[in-house]
Order: sequence, then C-alpha cells, then structure tokens
Amino acid sequence: MRLRGVLTVGMAGALVLAGCSSGEDEPAEPVNATALADSVRIDPVVSHLEQLEEIAADNDDNRAAGTSGYDASVDFVAQTLRDKGFDVETPEFDFHRFDVKNEALRAADRDIEVKALAYSPSTGPDGLTARVVPAPKDDTPGCEATDYDGLDIAGAVVLVDRGVCPFADKQQVASERGAAAVVVVNNEEGPMTGGTLGDPDAGKVPTGGVSMADGATLAGAGEITLTLETETESAKARNVIAQTTTGATDDVVMVGAHLDSVPEGPGINDNGTGVAATLETAVQLGGSPNVQNAVRFAFWGAEELGLLGSEAYVESLSPEQKSDIALYLNFDMLGSENAGYLAYDGDDSDVMGEGPGPEGSAGIERTFVDYLQTKGVAVDGTDFDGRSDYGPFIEAKIPAGGVFSGADDRKTPEQAEKWGGAADAAYDKNYHSPDDTLANVDRDALAQNSAAVAYAVGVYAQDLGGPNGVPVGGEREKARAGE
Ligand SMILES: [Zn+2]
Repeated sequence: MRLRGVLTVGMAGALVLAGCSSGEDEPAEPVNATALADSVRIDPVVSHLEQLEEIAADNDDNRAAGTSGYDASVDFVAQTLRDKGFDVETPEFDFHRFDVKNEALRAADRDIEVKALAYSPSTGPDGLTARVVPAPKDDTPGCEATDYDGLDIAGAVVLVDRGVCPFADKQQVASERGAAAVVVVNNEEGPMTGGTLGDPDAGKVPTGGVSMADGATLAGAGEITLTLETETESAKARNVIAQTTTGATDDVVMVGAHLDSVPEGPGINDNGTGVAATLETAVQLGGSPNVQNAVRFAFWGAEELGLLGSEAYVESLSPEQKSDIALYLNFDMLGSENAGYLAYDGDDSDVMGEGPGPEGSAGIERTFVDYLQTKGVAVDGTDFDGRSDYGPFIEAKIPAGGVFSGADDRKTPEQAEKWGGAADAAYDKNYHSPDDTLANVDRDALAQNSAAVAYAVGVYAQDLGGPNGVPVGGEREKARAGE
C-alpha cells in the first residue's frame, strides 16, 4: 500500500510541478487550483493516516500534546515537509499538561462513568461526598448566577447541562455560589470526553462530565461520591510551521490543522484527517511552487486542551506579521463516519449561533461551497464559532474558513436525505474515543474534502481578489482597524 501511495504522489505531482523536470532555468507552470485539487488523491492521504495510527499504536494508543505520541507526530510531519523543500520550523510553546490518575462516580449504589474536564482541580484520592443539586434547565443552563436563585448549592455537587456557555463559566458560577463540585451532563449521545476548562487558572472546583442517560440517574441520586484525581503541570509542545520559498510574503495564505489527539484515543478522524489532507496538499504543492502568494502550513499542538498552540502562535506575531496573513484556512475532521458536508458559515447566512466571520470569510465559504457543488455535493453551513484553531485568527480579524464533516452533533433527516448516512445520529460517534480509528473514517468524504482543501489553497495562492476574495492592501488595513 505504501508503495502504491508513493507512485500516485509522483505521477500526480507531475501535473502541478510540470516545469520542474525541464531544467532549472525554466520556471515551473503556475499552480492551477483545479489541477492541485485533482493531484490530492485518497491513497497518499490514507497512507499519512496509517502513519499516524502506527504512531498512536506505538505510544499508548494516543497522540495527545505532551506525550511521546505527539512528539512522533511532529517529527513525521516536519520530515515529510522538509523532504519536499519547505522551510520548516517547530516553534515551542509553554502549556499545561493535564493528567487524570483516577475518575470515579458512585451514586445510588452504582458506578457511573465520569470524565474529568481538562484542568479540573483535583478532589484528592478519596473524592468528595455531597448531595446533588440539579441546575434549572433554562436558556442559560448554569451560565448565570441568577440560575441558582432560590437554590441552596453550598457544599453540593451541581448537576448542569452542557451547552450555551463554556464549561469554565459553569463551574465558576457554581463555585461562586459555594458549590463543592460540578458535573456537566452531555447534550449529545455518548460519554463526555475531551471537554476542557481552557486553562488551569480557570479551574475553581472539581468538574467532570457524564452522559445524558447517567445525568438523569444522578438527578435523583441524593448523595454521591465523586473522585477526580487530577494533576496539572507545566510542559512544552511544538507547532510545525512550513512555508513555501516562493510567493509574496506580505500576502500569506495560511492553512492549518491540529496535530494532537485527546488522551482517550488515536485521533485519526479528529484530527488525523485534517492533518493528512493539509499535508498532502503541501506535498503536491511542493516547497517552491510557481505561486503569487506564499503558502504557510501549520500543524498545531494542544488544540484539544483549548486551542493552545494556535493561540501561542498568533500571540507571538507582531502587528505587521499578522497583517501579512491574508487569510487562514482550518481543517479539523474531514472523514467522519456518518459524514456531513459542512463549511464554516463565514457570512452567517444560517443565522445560527455566532455572527459572521471577519470580512473575507464569506468569500472563503463560497469558494468551498462552489467547489463541492461542482462535485455534486450540496454543502450546509456550520456555525462560525471559533471552536477550533481559527479562533485565535478571527480574534485578530484575519478572515477564515474551512470544511468540516461533523463531530458529535447529529445529522438531520434532510441531510441524510441529500448525503446518505444515518439521520438523527452523530456525524462521528467515535469522536474523542478509542474507536477514532482509520477503520471508522469515511474515505469518500475524506477524498472530497481533501480535494477541497487543495482547491482553496490553489485559488488563494494565485489570487486573493475576485468575488470570493479577501481584503488586500489598504482594504485589509481598513477591515482590521475598525471595531
Ligand atoms: Zn479536532
């Protein structure tokens, strides 16, 4: 399989880099978006995923930030890019590792599966025993202090639904009212893994997550014993940043995918698929393509702990370096088992959740929607909520976009009708679990989305203008200066 993958790479690469073999003095053919998209084939994309799965298998079945599996993933990606002639850097950033020694929940003479949210304070080895008080199921479940008016939650374990506001806010509000701990109940099927309080300073009281079904049991349990024995310590991780040696460096097209998994699994759909599609796009583009604009690829660490790698990177940039980035494309989950075909809703045409993205995001959305339309795929929007590595970029007013095959939200009957798959079931039931493996990746979705990644990169590498363009020059300054 590996050999066939390699042959495909070479043959398809000839389309894009036709000029390379005809002598050093002759410039390469200008990159063409459609040809670049066609050159990104499923076999080499899958072979990158095989590498990542092997790395997980050799390293305690995960590739989480701060582990040997993550470091091996960095080395694999960096070497693949160096071999293609990219300038590769692996800047280090500080973050906090989070380890769970023990998590247990005993209620009504039953053991209930509980997952510590990352950066949850520890209960200590013996846990804490207290009565359970469910938070009212209103529009702001446990998000506002007034949610607890008339309830005595002092010393209690508060049971609160997931959703509307960050986990960190829920446990902060509950702790201010005197709660001893918080248990968040999932609002989707399955256990609640991979949740985070975002940073260690945010953690006020021990906070865990349970499934919806177990949440119902807990609501009537009276007294429970919750043990979340956790440890948070300083650590370092690396991002991988690789840029073409060609193209304008003050109009950079930036493309990224997070490289870390959650500790619970190998992270092949989340986010081996985004990594593999982005990496194969880089391989096919090559380090010195004939492009107008430089292309910078990023593979982020510690996304799962709260977008930490991308945040550290954006923070490290000077104002000028930020304004040199024309746009940011993000790819996080491209081959979900019950795949959706979703594009970040940059224009807020869905009028759902968060508002539109920075100026230019609407054009990026159209680029993806139009391309997949030509492949017979009718794309839906997904809320532009910044809950992946584009978050820090849109905060810096850099336009962003990307495609997404869905996580633990459910596919609607209308979507199942047009794309196939199961209605009213999660896009990826293996999300953040040990079953997030290559065997559970939808290769058709991955193939379509990988080509879409390459297409968008090819489009913007050559031309930032046009109806689907992003602001350039003085327009960019104006767009990013205003409130
Ligand atoms: Zn992800």
